[in-house]
Amino acid sequence: MQVLIVGGAGYIGSHMVKLLCRRGCEVTVLDDLSAGYRDAVLAERFVLGDLGDLSLLDKIFGANHFDGVMHFASHIQVGESVRDPAKYYRNNVFKTQCLLDAMVAHKVNHFIFSSTAAIFGEPVRVPIDEEHPKNPINPYGRGKWMVEQMLEDYEVAYGLQAVRLRYFNAAGADPEGELGERHEPETHLIPLVLQAASGRRPHITVFGADYDTPDGTCIRDYIHVADLCEAHWLALQRLWQGGGGGAFNLGNGNGFSVQEVIDVARTVTGREIVVMRGERRPGDPARLVADSRRARTELGWTPQYADLATLVDHAWRWETR
Ligand code: UDP
Repeated sequence: MQVLIVGGAGYIGSHMVKLLCRRGCEVTVLDDLSAGYRDAVLAERFVLGDLGDLSLLDKIFGANHFDGVMHFASHIQVGESVRDPAKYYRNNVFKTQCLLDAMVAHKVNHFIFSSTAAIFGEPVRVPIDEEHPKNPINPYGRGKWMVEQMLEDYEVAYGLQAVRLRYFNAAGADPEGELGERHEPETHLIPLVLQAASGRRPHITVFGADYDTPDGTCIRDYIHVADLCEAHWLALQRLWQGGGGGAFNLGNGNGFSVQEVIDVARTVTGREIVVMRGERRPGDPARLVADSRRARTELGWTPQYADLATLVDHAWRWETR
């Protein structure tokens, strides 16, 4: 099977490329390397280019017969999306539409979309199931929700079948140590905590310790990148077997507080981690935990790395590689 991975040089995309190659797919990666790394692409076919380049898309789709497309090429910083919404709507919405239009024009009907828990906004109930109201509170989340709605319309009008996967907190690294998280700048908790453990940073700042949670710090659902990729694989199988599109929340269903993450990191690394107390980060809900029962029952998905210590250990091996 031939699969196009847009954003295959980035964190989650690069892990996905590795998995698909392992499963015998012919993988083509399209990436502009704005946030990815050429050496993270473990596939032979790599196209350096912009998703908004319509003639390039036409050329790629004209030269291949893709059985599926996965799209990981998003900007991901919530704060930046508030300061510069144009950047987010242009890249995450407009350029995604360019991709979808090329798929429709070339009759490629199977699409896996990387969505996010940010489409739900401030939760009205936790754990968050797929039917939870969608009320995104920043341009990042709004753009992702716009694309989800676009996909529903494209399915009705053009028969494009899409599986929309809403990630909770993606974390961890390739269990074999070949790939990991390399965001520049890094904003995610687990890599930052581990950089504080390795000495690359002087400390970790906890954004708010006065939330309505047992230890006062925010609770998140950390899901291993390898488990996320497995869910994409199962979603692709579903499309190929005629199971149709749909939306799935991807998390472990276990919430860990920022303080618990730091404690686990101290145990796993055996290092001292200096903690500073900081202000709340605007737009951070107290608790985000997924109800992933639909992915488990309908996709047959079972996360293998539900244990936070294992996840942190994989990320630590990457940090100290
Ligand atoms: N966080 C923190 N300090 C940091 C980075 C993150 O306390 O330097 C907290 C953040 O406020 C949130 C949790 O860690 O409660 C996870 O944040 P992250 O940015 O990793 O993912 P998000 O939940 O925003 O997708």
